[in-house]
Amino acid sequence: MSRKIAVCPGSFDPITNGHLDIVYRGLCVFDKVVIAIGRNPLKQDLFTTEEKYEMIRESIGDDPRIEVDIFEGLLVDYLLRKKACAILRGLRVISDFEMELQLALMNRRLCDKIETFFLMTDYNHLFVSSTIVKATAAAGGSVEGLVPQPALEKLREKFPQMKEREASKRRT
Ligand code: ADP
Repeated sequence: MSRKIAVCPGSFDPITNGHLDIVYRGLCVFDKVVIAIGRNPLKQDLFTTEEKYEMIRESIGDDPRIEVDIFEGLLVDYLLRKKACAILRGLRVISDFEMELQLALMNRRLCDKIETFFLMTDYNHLFVSSTIVKATAAAGGSVEGLVPQPALEKLREKFPQMKEREASKRRT
């Protein structure tokens, strides 16, 4: 029987526990999930694609059911190359739905062999996005518990103010 492969695409700038929640839920249905980092030269991200790759690899450990990869160009072409049958996306709040619907229908128009699957995130991750994580970290706030440890360490490197605030909290 052929293995069912899903691709979980995104910017992952940086990966959060919300993303990981979707990947692990996906593994309840699919044999393998590929975390695919979209390389977009037009987008100004905090982390380079290589940094994102490292953070994700270190976060997932040695699970043979998960692959981390980088792609450019059309997502459906990438899925065909990977012999994947599904796009895995997470839904948090109603506002995610509109954009996700557009993306899913455009991808179906480009290739009707590929289905998009939406999974509901755990309620603990409902408010978590890479954007809010970066904004909080940049202002020196703690994002512990919202991102995996390797991403937390990279954020501390980018934003020393996080470390300073953590240290001053420990002193009080
Ligand atoms: P993009 O830039 O393509 O939106 P993201 O890295 O922000 O990429 O997100 C990739 C996918 O992960 C999207 O389907 C998004 O809805 C989902 N996602 C992001 N944060 C969470 C979260 N906290 N819980 C569940 N899914 C999430």
